[in-house]
Amino acid sequence: MDKRELIELALAARDNSYCPYSGYSVGAALLTADGRVFTGCNVENAGYSPTLCAERSAMAAAVSAGVRKFTMLAVAGGPTGKEPETYFWPCGVCRQWLAEFCPPDFPVLCAKSAADYRETTLAELLPHAFSPSTLT
Ligand SMILES: [Zn+2]
Repeated sequence: MDKRELIELALAARDNSYCPYSGYSVGAALLTADGRVFTGCNVENAGYSPTLCAERSAMAAAVSAGVRKFTMLAVAGGPTGKEPETYFWPCGVCRQWLAEFCPPDFPVLCAKSAADYRETTLAELLPHAFSPSTLT
Protein backbone atom coordinates (compact mmCIF):
# COMPACT_ATOMS: atom_id res chain seq x y z
CA MET A 1 0.00 0.00 0.00
CA ASP A 2 1.65 3.21 -1.09
CA LYS A 3 0.71 6.75 -0.10
CA ARG A 4 -1.22 7.39 -3.29
CA GLU A 5 -3.38 4.28 -2.79
CA LEU A 6 -4.08 5.22 0.83
CA ILE A 7 -5.16 8.73 -0.20
CA GLU A 8 -7.43 7.29 -2.90
CA LEU A 9 -9.13 5.18 -0.22
CA ALA A 10 -9.60 8.30 1.94
CA LEU A 11 -11.12 10.12 -1.03
CA ALA A 12 -13.46 7.17 -1.69
CA ALA A 13 -14.49 7.03 1.98
CA ARG A 14 -15.36 10.71 1.70
CA ASP A 15 -18.22 9.75 -0.63
CA ASN A 16 -19.99 8.12 2.34
CA SER A 17 -19.87 11.26 4.47
CA TYR A 18 -23.08 12.18 6.28
CA CYS A 19 -22.83 15.95 6.61
CA PRO A 20 -26.24 17.56 6.07
CA TYR A 21 -25.36 20.48 8.39
CA SER A 22 -21.89 21.56 7.32
CA GLY A 23 -21.90 20.30 3.74
CA TYR A 24 -18.24 19.46 4.34
CA SER A 25 -17.30 15.86 3.50
CA VAL A 26 -14.27 14.20 5.02
CA GLY A 27 -12.77 10.78 4.43
CA ALA A 28 -9.96 9.00 6.24
CA ALA A 29 -7.98 5.86 5.53
CA LEU A 30 -5.92 4.32 8.31
CA LEU A 31 -3.19 1.83 7.40
CA THR A 32 -2.51 -0.73 10.11
CA ALA A 33 0.78 -2.39 10.99
CA ASP A 34 -0.53 -5.70 9.61
CA GLY A 35 -1.37 -4.12 6.25
CA ARG A 36 -5.11 -3.69 6.62
CA VAL A 37 -6.90 -0.41 5.95
CA PHE A 38 -9.80 0.96 7.95
CA THR A 39 -11.70 3.85 6.44
CA GLY A 40 -14.02 6.39 7.98
CA CYS A 41 -16.11 9.39 7.10
CA ASN A 42 -17.55 12.21 9.12
CA VAL A 43 -20.98 11.48 10.57
CA GLU A 44 -22.79 14.62 11.66
CA ASN A 45 -25.67 14.85 14.11
CA ALA A 46 -28.48 17.32 14.64
CA GLY A 47 -27.11 17.81 18.14
CA TYR A 48 -23.79 18.94 16.58
CA SER A 49 -21.53 17.93 19.49
CA PRO A 50 -22.18 14.17 18.98
CA THR A 51 -20.71 14.51 15.47
CA LEU A 52 -17.96 12.02 14.70
CA CYS A 53 -15.00 12.94 12.52
CA ALA A 54 -13.72 10.67 9.75
CA GLU A 55 -10.41 10.02 11.51
CA ARG A 56 -12.07 8.90 14.75
CA SER A 57 -14.57 6.87 12.73
CA ALA A 58 -11.69 4.94 11.13
CA MET A 59 -9.83 4.54 14.42
CA ALA A 60 -12.94 3.32 16.22
CA ALA A 61 -13.56 0.75 13.48
CA ALA A 62 -9.98 -0.49 13.76
CA VAL A 63 -9.93 -0.65 17.55
CA SER A 64 -13.33 -2.36 17.50
CA ALA A 65 -11.76 -5.01 15.25
CA GLY A 66 -8.93 -5.49 17.74
CA VAL A 67 -6.33 -3.46 15.83
CA ARG A 68 -4.29 -0.85 17.69
CA LYS A 69 -1.06 -0.54 15.73
CA PHE A 70 -1.14 1.90 12.85
CA THR A 71 1.37 2.85 10.17
CA MET A 72 -0.09 5.87 8.38
CA LEU A 73 -3.24 7.97 8.06
CA ALA A 74 -4.56 9.73 4.96
CA VAL A 75 -7.28 12.37 5.19
CA ALA A 76 -9.12 14.47 2.62
CA GLY A 77 -11.97 16.90 3.03
CA GLY A 78 -13.86 19.69 1.39
CA PRO A 79 -17.28 20.89 0.31
CA THR A 80 -19.55 17.97 -0.58
CA GLY A 81 -19.64 17.13 -4.27
CA LYS A 82 -16.50 19.13 -5.09
CA GLU A 83 -12.84 18.26 -5.28
CA PRO A 84 -11.00 19.52 -2.18
CA GLU A 85 -9.39 22.88 -2.91
CA THR A 86 -7.35 23.07 0.26
CA TYR A 87 -5.38 20.60 2.31
CA PHE A 88 -7.45 19.10 5.07
CA TRP A 89 -5.96 19.00 8.57
CA PRO A 90 -7.36 16.85 11.42
CA CYS A 91 -9.16 18.68 14.22
CA GLY A 92 -7.77 18.87 17.74
CA VAL A 93 -9.92 16.05 19.09
CA CYS A 94 -8.74 13.70 16.34
CA ARG A 95 -5.13 14.70 17.00
CA GLN A 96 -5.65 13.69 20.62
CA TRP A 97 -7.16 10.36 19.53
CA LEU A 98 -4.14 9.73 17.32
CA ALA A 99 -1.86 10.42 20.30
CA GLU A 100 -3.56 7.57 22.14
CA PHE A 101 -2.42 4.96 19.63
CA CYS A 102 0.35 6.45 17.51
CA PRO A 103 3.94 7.57 18.16
CA PRO A 104 5.07 11.18 17.65
CA ASP A 105 6.64 10.34 14.26
CA PHE A 106 3.38 8.82 12.94
CA PRO A 107 2.88 10.08 9.35
CA VAL A 108 -0.33 11.86 8.38
CA LEU A 109 -1.10 12.62 4.73
CA CYS A 110 -3.35 15.68 4.34
CA ALA A 111 -4.63 15.52 0.78
CA LYS A 112 -6.33 17.60 -1.85
CA SER A 113 -5.95 14.65 -4.24
CA ALA A 114 -3.91 11.47 -4.55
CA ALA A 115 -1.21 13.49 -6.32
CA ASP A 116 -1.36 16.65 -4.18
CA TYR A 117 -0.89 16.23 -0.46
CA ARG A 118 1.15 17.41 2.49
CA GLU A 119 2.86 14.91 4.72
CA THR A 120 3.22 15.77 8.38
CA THR A 121 3.65 13.92 11.66
CA LEU A 122 1.58 13.61 14.77
CA ALA A 123 4.24 15.56 16.69
CA GLU A 124 3.92 18.45 14.25
CA LEU A 125 0.13 18.36 14.55
CA LEU A 126 0.10 17.96 18.33
CA PRO A 127 3.37 18.98 19.96
CA HIS A 128 3.81 18.11 23.63
CA ALA A 129 0.89 15.68 23.40
CA PHE A 130 -0.89 14.31 26.42
CA SER A 131 -0.52 10.60 25.69
CA PRO A 132 -0.52 7.28 27.54
CA SER A 133 3.19 7.80 28.34
CA THR A 134 2.24 10.94 30.25
CA LEU A 135 0.45 8.79 32.81
CA THR A 136 3.32 6.35 33.42
ZN1 LIG B 1 -11.68 15.49 14.01
